[in-house]
Amino acid sequence: MSRLLRLSNHRWRLLWLIAIPLGLMLCMWQAAQLAREQALSNLQDDAENELRLSAANLNGYLLRYDYLPQMLATREGVQRFLASPDSQDPMPLNLLLDRFRFTAGVSDVYLLNRDADTIAASNWHRPKTFIGQNYAFRSYYTDAITGGQGRFYGLGLQSLERGYYFSAPVWLDDTSPDAKPDGVIVVKVLLDDVEESWAEQDAELFVTDSDNIIFMASHPELRMNALYPLTDNQRDSLRATRRYAMEPLTPSGMKREAPYGSDSYLVSFASGPLSSGHYLSLTRPIPEFGWQMHILKPLTPVVNAQWIAALMAGGLYGVVALGGGIGWQRLRLRREREAFAERERQTLARVRDELEVSVERRTRDLVASNQRLSDEIEERRRAEANLRQTQDELIQAAKLAVLGQLAAGINHELNQPLAAIRAYAENGRRFIELARVDKADANLAQIVELTQRMADISAQLRQFSRKSSERQETISVQACIEYALRLFHSRLRDDGIKVVHQWPEETLWVEGDLVRLEQVLVNLISNALQAMKELASPMLTLSVEIAQQHVMISVADNGPGIPEHHLSQIFEPFFTTKAPGSGLGLGLSISSRIMEDLGGKLQVTNQPTGGAQFTITLPCSATPNVLPPLSVKESNNHA
Ligand code: ADP
Repeated sequence: MSRLLRLSNHRWRLLWLIAIPLGLMLCMWQAAQLAREQALSNLQDDAENELRLSAANLNGYLLRYDYLPQMLATREGVQRFLASPDSQDPMPLNLLLDRFRFTAGVSDVYLLNRDADTIAASNWHRPKTFIGQNYAFRSYYTDAITGGQGRFYGLGLQSLERGYYFSAPVWLDDTSPDAKPDGVIVVKVLLDDVEESWAEQDAELFVTDSDNIIFMASHPELRMNALYPLTDNQRDSLRATRRYAMEPLTPSGMKREAPYGSDSYLVSFASGPLSSGHYLSLTRPIPEFGWQMHILKPLTPVVNAQWIAALMAGGLYGVVALGGGIGWQRLRLRREREAFAERERQTLARVRDELEVSVERRTRDLVASNQRLSDEIEERRRAEANLRQTQDELIQAAKLAVLGQLAAGINHELNQPLAAIRAYAENGRRFIELARVDKADANLAQIVELTQRMADISAQLRQFSRKSSERQETISVQACIEYALRLFHSRLRDDGIKVVHQWPEETLWVEGDLVRLEQVLVNLISNALQAMKELASPMLTLSVEIAQQHVMISVADNGPGIPEHHLSQIFEPFFTTKAPGSGLGLGLSISSRIMEDLGGKLQVTNQPTGGAQFTITLPCSATPNVLPPLSVKESNNHA
């Protein structure tokens, strides 16, 4: 695809590289053509005007001499001399003619007799005077001697100057209708002045006769040339008239290159003075003299106009092409930018769509996993509730197990006052029968006291056997120990166990659940009593100390201690060394768990002096503002 694109780009560039110069050339050529047409048209107009004016000038210039011979022919001096030329001095007439020549501004004035001999002339005093010359061959003589007006142009035989000749017959007797002219008066006009005036124009002007001989020309070298090569016949007849003497009448070398308009041509010269240029040639007849007047306008202004137009068109084309190129480049850049932006937009849209899909999928996954988590949390909560319930039930079971162990002592505790109450009651009845009210009353008082004692024991059991409220409260450590110890009151006394208290005077407080802490202490004391069963002097040491914001409660005995290999097992559930039916192996594991729940821990060591020591560690609590009623009251009761 990219290769195709590159190829096509390459082709485009090649096409432009060819098209732009071609367009430039075409544009320049077309502009040059238009300019040429316009310049040629202008040139033709100018040429026409100049030609018309020049022809009119020439016509006017010559015609103003037309009347001179007639006027002179009637002059009395001329006629008188002509009547008897041989007997008269020609000098007065010569002087007259010379004065006339000077006044009229002509070249020569001379008088021919009937035989065409020059008998008087204005140039009588010049070396090449006409006097004595015979001009019978000139048409101006033949025309005039037959009674007409004569006109002639050609080279003078003497002077070899180009001149125009006007002639008129001279009648000595003009009254007789049959009379013939007695002489001819001739006025010769030079044409150089006219040609000089042409030299000022920026064009070449020339006049051709009926034989296409260039008789007059603004450029001297053109004069006396044949416009076109002469045929032999033409040369023969010209030689016969001696109009142009012995001039070679070489061809001018003019070539018509192309016609322009109806009566003009583009011409050039193969040779001669004008061979370096190209001209617009226009021709106009001067019928009065049987001539053709030509004008040659150099094509230089046309060529200049062509160049200027071509260069201007080229410049304009360059500017337009440059502007077009810049515009095209900008358009291309804008298109590329737009295409890039479109691609970016599409990419962004695609990425956004993908992102949306991905986010939607992720959200779905998250919602699903959230739901799963919620389900799992709910499940765990239920499991935890079940576990707690099971735990509570286990704790209760362990409690009841301890109670079972206490049952014998309690039985004894209750039976003793019961028997005493019975005895006091029987004694009381007897004293009532004997009307010994005071004695009966004393017995009843004993009964009341004993029932109070029994109520106390019952309250202790009820307290221990109750389920935890799981309420966090501030507990007096010493009161809690005293209260647990009180459950073993009769057993301690009966077994003769020495109890040692080691704790500070001030009350130490911890945060926790009273029932549970009490249960832990009961478990530890119960285990210690069992371990010291066989001893002769058992001793139970209960100590409390405070260190690093923690309260440490120790229950130590002087029993056998715990074998080293059991130390790591005794906190495991159902680990027991006791005989079946004596222990469940749950006491320590439950106690350890309770301590963890209360934010503390339970540890065991064997004392160096023998016996095991269990230590409870709990965070210290500040003294409560209002003392907890239950713990305070109960601790007071048992103090
Ligand atoms: P049980 O008392 O039902 O056996 P416990 O979890 O309370 O269950 O005790 C586990 C075991 O730890 C006991 O069987 C006993 O071997 C040992 N033990 C606990 N306290 C002591 C102690 N003070 N001295 C020696 N051994 C003890």
